[in-house]
Amino acid sequence: DHRATIIDGKVIAQTIRSEISAEVSRLSQTYGKVPGLAVVIVGRRKDSQSYVNMKRKTCAEVGIRSIDLDLPEDVPEAELISKVHELNANPDVHGILVQLPLPKHINEEKILIEISLEKDVDGFHPLNIGKLAMKGRDPLFVPCTPKGCLELLARSGVSVKGKNAVVVGRSNIVGLPVSMLLLKEDATVTIVHSRTKEPERIIREADIIIAAAGQAAMIKGSWIKPGAAVIDVGTNAVDDPSKKSGYRLVGDVDFNEACEVAGCITPVPGGVGPMTVAMLLKNTLDGAKRAIEH
Ligand code: NDP
Repeated sequence: DHRATIIDGKVIAQTIRSEISAEVSRLSQTYGKVPGLAVVIVGRRKDSQSYVNMKRKTCAEVGIRSIDLDLPEDVPEAELISKVHELNANPDVHGILVQLPLPKHINEEKILIEISLEKDVDGFHPLNIGKLAMKGRDPLFVPCTPKGCLELLARSGVSVKGKNAVVVGRSNIVGLPVSMLLLKEDATVTIVHSRTKEPERIIREADIIIAAAGQAAMIKGSWIKPGAAVIDVGTNAVDDPSKKSGYRLVGDVDFNEACEVAGCITPVPGGVGPMTVAMLLKNTLDGAKRAIEH
């Protein structure tokens, strides 16, 4: 009986972090400069705090300096904008990340648009997204989770050119940008969303499936074409009384069923998750290289 190859995101992300670390040392030896990432958090959301802590910790691991800004929940919009302007002007800062979501009184779009294009390491500035969407143009930065999905495919030897790729989900942070990236890499891309009729019929045509719907185990083994490459972005908490926390994380794909049909598949956790942070560091390194070397 068939077992899919498991794409180990933890191992691949570790390899990428070592590559970044070596490049950071080279920059520091050659120019006496270290890449800097500003990580801005507003308020005390538990999930945001844990993402931000992880980003700051992983920066330290590869030798990137993290410039930490923790602003109170009630910080005025104008003050956050002026902080962003200060970071834009600071030559030690090569990347600026403002953790989303922001509190309700702040308009996210108004903040994202103020981040210098050269420092937009999350790739969420409308101009970077616009260039990602345009044929023959390249953004300065590509959003981290989508970039991580493509990197997992590339490092697992899955070619994208000419393949049928189906993306499940169309959010601004995952589904939409990953679709545009696949299109840039010459895949034939179909996007499935909550209003799509007969999603299983469309998904069954896919050589490559990118699942980013946020629906626990919605994609069944019978929906998957034999040999397909499956990248599961979904991270869903489901009750599990056998765990101390009372829950466990599962993807958007029924992993056990999929293993019987797919050619290769990412696990959840340990697939796309570790890649997202690795790509953030890669974007910061690339930004620093552009600033320092050119
Ligand atoms: P959103 O909730 O913003 O978007 C979900 C998308 O999936 C929407 O476009 C929605 O369609 C579509 N969708 C929802 N239900 C269905 C369905 N039954 N069939 C088909 N399409 C459906 O989520 P995100 O994009 O932010 O995140 C998606 C998942 O990825 C989540 O589980 C999230 O936790 C995870 N994630 C993981 C990351 C990582 O680093 N590993 C990073 C970011 C996210 P419509 O537009 O019609 O509403």
